[in-house]
This record gives sequence, structure tokens and C-alpha cells, in this order.
Amino acid sequence: VPLLELDDVSFAYPDGTQVLRGVSLSVPAGSRVALVGPSGAGKSTVLALVEGFYPLTGGTIRWAGTDVRELPRAALRAQLGYVEQEAPVLAGTVRENLLLAAPDAGDDELWAVLADVGLTAVVQRSARGLDVPVGDEGVLLSGGERQRLAIARSLLSRPALLLLDEPTASLDARNENLLRETLAAAAADRALLVVAHRLSTVLDSDQIVVLDGGRVVARGTHAELVETS
Ligand code: ADP
Ligand code: ADP
Repeated sequence: VPLLELDDVSFAYPDGTQVLRGVSLSVPAGSRVALVGPSGAGKSTVLALVEGFYPLTGGTIRWAGTDVRELPRAALRAQLGYVEQEAPVLAGTVRENLLLAAPDAGDDELWAVLADVGLTAVVQRSARGLDVPVGDEGVLLSGGERQRLAIARSLLSRPALLLLDEPTASLDARNENLLRETLAAAAADRALLVVAHRLSTVLDSDQIVVLDGGRVVARGTHAELVETS
């Protein structure tokens, strides 16, 4: 039984916009699945539905074989690490951001996660500019560092499944590579469902699902997709 399964999922927003039409996909435990496709295809909506932001209008989402409508929402969310696009960081240092997310985390755990996301060198930096005096901009985090901090925060809650929405949207090539390494480390002992607009980010996914106009139009490994296109 896969960890997460979408079975013939359809969805219309309350204003009537039909966004998903018969989407099926599964994320086996420990696997890495990527959702790619043009802007407006419905990728972010898939993650929002898994997180439970809206009720489905058709089809079923199952967690380890159980219809999520039969699971307490909080129990499911505790197993999910949802990192929205442009995830907010809090005032304070990188270290303080992590401790707020996981007050009981030990030093070893903090350092292990920081190493996974490549942030050990900036642990004492201010995560957000607002509390830094003018003239001290040198201590700010870059956009890529903020993204990786948001992922680090969600890793500390030890989710079984990470849901990442366009983690590379605002990154240059160097930071995209760093993020790919982060994802590889993060996926070592958990499943990953990642939305990406660049295929280069998700080359090493176990499965890539291509969404267009709310439908799955192709699926396969990167090699398989390149072969058939
Ligand atoms: P993607 O992530 O692939 O860019 P989205 O899931 O964000 O696509 O959006 C899919 C479609 O749903 C788009 O046409 C978008 O305008 C529409 N949409 C997104 N959010 C809402 C909302 N809250 N209400 C109505 N329509 C929405
Ligand atoms: P990214 O591509 O992730 O935004 P950059 O190459 O812009 O990274 O930044 C590299 C380093 O420079 C980072 O450690 C970041 O904290 C720092 N930095 C980025 N932008 C600024 C800025 N406007 N002022 C001071 N330091 C910055």
C-alpha cells in the first residue's frame, strides 16, 4: 500500500473554477515523486488538497490505505511536512527559527538537519532582515538560504512525507544544486512530493508526474519522459 494515494481526484474551487480532473498518483513510502507542468496546471492545488485545505469535489485521497476523510486531520498533518512557496521565516537567527519549530530538539539533531540543508555556516545569522540595523545587510540570509531554512524547520518535525511547493522557484543555478542535495538528504528516510517548474530540479525523482490543465498528461522517470517526448 502506498503512503499517499490520489485516486481519480477532481477539484473545483468554491468560485467554480474546475482545477483538477481525474488525477491519480501514488507516493510509495521512501520514494520521491515530482509534479511538473505549466503554471496554472493545478500543481499547488494538489499539495493543498493533501494538506487538507479544501474538501475534494471528486475522488479519494488515501493515507496508508485509509481514506483521509476517516482520519483526524491533526493526526495526518503531524505526518506531513508542508513547505509552501515563499515559506515565511521568523525574526531571529537561523538557530532560533529552528528552536521555535522544535523546542525539544537536541543540539545533535539541530546540527544534523543544518548539515542536511547546508546551513551550518549561517546558524547565528538573522533569518529575516527586519530586526537587523541598516548597514548590517551582510548578515541577512539569501533567498536560497531562506528556502533551505524553511525545509530544515519542517524536517525537524520528522514528517513521513515532505510536500514542497516550488522550492527552486526563485533560485539561481548554484542554489538549485544546493537544494537538490538538500532534497536527496531529506529523502533518505522519508517520502517526498515536490512541485517543480524546472525538470532539472527533479532529475533524480523515482517518478515524475506531468500535469496540464488539471489532468495527468504523462508520467515516468526522467529518462522515460525524455524518450517519449
Ligand atoms: P500551479 O501550481 O500548477 O501553477 P495552481 O494549483 O496554483 O496551479 O492553480 C490552478 C488553477 O486554479 C489556476 O487556474 C488558478 O488560477 C486557480 N486557483 C488557484 N487558487 C485558487 C483559488 N483560491 N480560487 C480560485 N481559483 C484558484
Ligand atoms: P542566493 O542566490 O541564494 O540569493 P546570493 O549569492 O545572493 O545567494 O548570496 C550569497 C550570500 O550573500 C548569502 O550568504 C547571503 O546571505 C549574502 N547576501 C545575499 N544578498 C545580500 C544582500 N543584499 N546584502 C548582503 N548580503 C547578501
